[in-house]
Order: sequence, then structure tokens, then C-alpha cells
Amino acid sequence: MTGGSGGVIAIDGPAGTGKSTLSKLLADKVGAHYLDTGAMYRAATLAVLNAEVALDDPASIGRVVGTANIELVPTGGGRSRVYLDGADVSGPIRTDVVTNAVSAVSAVPEVRTKLVALQRQHAQQEVVVVEGRDIGTVVFPDAEVKIFLTASPEARAQRRHRQNVESGRDSDYDTVLASVNRRDHLDSTRAVSPLRAADDAVVVDTSDLTIDEVLARLRDLVAERIGAQR
Ligand code: C5P
Repeated sequence: MTGGSGGVIAIDGPAGTGKSTLSKLLADKVGAHYLDTGAMYRAATLAVLNAEVALDDPASIGRVVGTANIELVPTGGGRSRVYLDGADVSGPIRTDVVTNAVSAVSAVPEVRTKLVALQRQHAQQEVVVVEGRDIGTVVFPDAEVKIFLTASPEARAQRRHRQNVESGRDSDYDTVLASVNRRDHLDSTRAVSPLRAADDAVVVDTSDLTIDEVLARLRDLVAERIGAQR
């Protein structure tokens, strides 16, 4: 696949379905840029936390995010960095304090309007794998390929817990499961752009599949729809 003309592979689904790992691998395999829209919502959340604005004050959240400069820079090979007001915040956006606040910030309409516009700019020139919650439904309703990844809450919590342990962070499975369920609930019941599969998305349940098995499935779908398999 070559750049120069836009094309969108939308990958939506809740946390812990293998979405990030798969989106990066797929982007690398098909020679597309990778856009992690969750990282943008996390950077917006960091701006809100830095400004010490209350999470139940949508007007102030909208104002802070409205003036924040958030940039997502694809760096090739299925990787990207995220910047907030010129500083690389790719690490700090992964802390628990950001994870626990992000659903509140991403539910604010002004935040979504701003970040959706930024996401659309990226697809104008390049072929992109875009990972998120509302990519096939709202951001790119005409995406060439739409995939919705799911898995049981227990399988997702187990994966998150394992990732935490492997990267040396304190982790308790029951706490992770509660956090997964809480975030799912908030993301799927919010008024603006709730998490749901687009009617024309291919739904893939990853609970009992390996990463390689899902990747093979996704590459086949991309090849079918845009003939882009390498
Ligand atoms: O994918 P990740 O866990 O980094 O996403 C963090 C949060 O950002 C999600 O829980 C959701 O609240 C929000 N998000 C969103 N729309 C997207 C991507 C992420 O609302 N397209």
C-alpha cells in the first residue's frame, strides 16, 4: 500500500481486546500509518488534570482542551508519539490517574469535536489504521474496512493484569476487572458517540484467539476490501 491517497482501516472496541497490539501490527504489515485515538483522549485528560479542573465540570474541561495543543505523530512501523503543548507525553498518559479520568473527559462534546477534526486530518493524505471507540461509527463512517474487536470482560481483565505484571506494575486481577467493567459502562452509555459496533463492521471475538490468529483474519479482511495485503 502506498501513501498519497487516503484510506481508512477502522478498528474499534473496548479496552483489553488486543486492539492496540493488533492495530500496530496490522499498520506495519500493510504499510499504513497507525493512529491511536485513545492516546489523544489521554493527552486531553492530562491537560485537564494539569489544569486542576474538576472532572464534573464539562464547561471548564471543554475550555482547557479547546486551548490545548494535542498532536499525534506517526513514527512508522506501527508506532506513534503524542505531544501536549509541544512536550512528548507518550509515557505520562498511561498512568492510572489518567486512565481513571479519561472516560469523564472523553464524554465532553467539545473534546470530541476537537479531536475528531484532528483525526480526520490525518486520513487525507495517508492510508491509516485508526484505533478507537467511534471510528467506524462517527469519525470515518465511510471507512474502507471496519473491524470491531470484542472479548469477554474476564479475558480482557486477564490480559491487562498480565501486561501490568510483565511491566513490573502492581496489579490485582479483581481491581483490573472492576476498572474494565466501569470504563465499558461509561464509554457505552455516554450521550455522545457511545462505544458500539458500526452496523457494517466485522465483529471479531478475540477471547479464544491468539494475536497471530486475529492478525491473519484482519489481513484477509484488508486484502478483500482494499487489496492491500503484502
Ligand atoms: O484505548 P484507550 O484505552 O487508550 O482509550 C482511553 C479512553 O479514551 C477510552 O476509555 C475512552 O473513554 C476514550 N476514547 C474515546 N474515543 C476514542 C478512543 C478513546 O472516547 N476514539
